[in-house]
Amino acid sequence: MQDLFGQDPKCRVEKLTERITPYGGPVIYYRVTREVKPGEAVDIYFLSRHLSSGVYLLPHELEWQAYMYTLLRLVGVDCILGTSAVGAIYYETGGYRQGDIIAPRFADDYIGDPYTFEMRGFSDKYAFHRPSEWLLCPYLQGLLAASTTTSSTAVWANSVRGPRFETGRQIQRRKRDGVHLVGMPTAFPEAVLAGEGAVPYGLLCGVSNMAPAKHSGRAVGEVMAEMQEPMLRAILDVAYKLTYTDTEHPLDCPCRQDREKSVFDILGDPS
Ligand SMILES: [Zn+2]
Repeated sequence: MQDLFGQDPKCRVEKLTERITPYGGPVIYYRVTREVKPGEAVDIYFLSRHLSSGVYLLPHELEWQAYMYTLLRLVGVDCILGTSAVGAIYYETGGYRQGDIIAPRFADDYIGDPYTFEMRGFSDKYAFHRPSEWLLCPYLQGLLAASTTTSSTAVWANSVRGPRFETGRQIQRRKRDGVHLVGMPTAFPEAVLAGEGAVPYGLLCGVSNMAPAKHSGRAVGEVMAEMQEPMLRAILDVAYKLTYTDTEHPLDCPCRQDREKSVFDILGDPS
């Protein structure tokens, strides 16, 4: 974080740690306070899903309940903007290529795990049964698309648990289903939990490889490093727009329908 913002005299970077949450811990994250005009500042929180516990965790090991609880309940963020490395399925026309940055419209789920804050003692017959049609907020996706000069109806899938990539036959099946982008369970659980927390979730995908991948994760990391700067610029652009212009998230956004109230506001805090 210091590398990204430390040189900007208008920014102050603080490293924060929640030692424990009802869903585990620790959770490490950063607050960047940026002065936007004299006497006025905006707080933006950054969290690396792979490093939030203090050690590097692969996609199937991520502690998404603990870090999402931290953002939604302890920090109390207004919205979440995520980024994700994805593979692109080849289409003769209308497909995506390595290096593309996309704000997808649709989400598909091939894993089917029960991503939820629900647990024994923190449960309810109704509160967790929430619509999933707008896991990705259409309003935030529109702002992200505008910031990357792409408009997209891409279908993004929670495709395999990893840490391996898909087989060729798995990719053929996803292509028959009309999927454009495939990823591991990184952003998908976050989008579901953001819905339980009644907070809109936006996602920017960077195409790190064509799918099925024919190389190791090292190549993915190298391509993502090149896309880091334009993706960060788009995220910051949208964050400032949401905070400092009249483009705040609308209360009647479809992503809020039957997800207006957080499960924590309904049930209290898990113990
Ligand atoms: Zn929304």
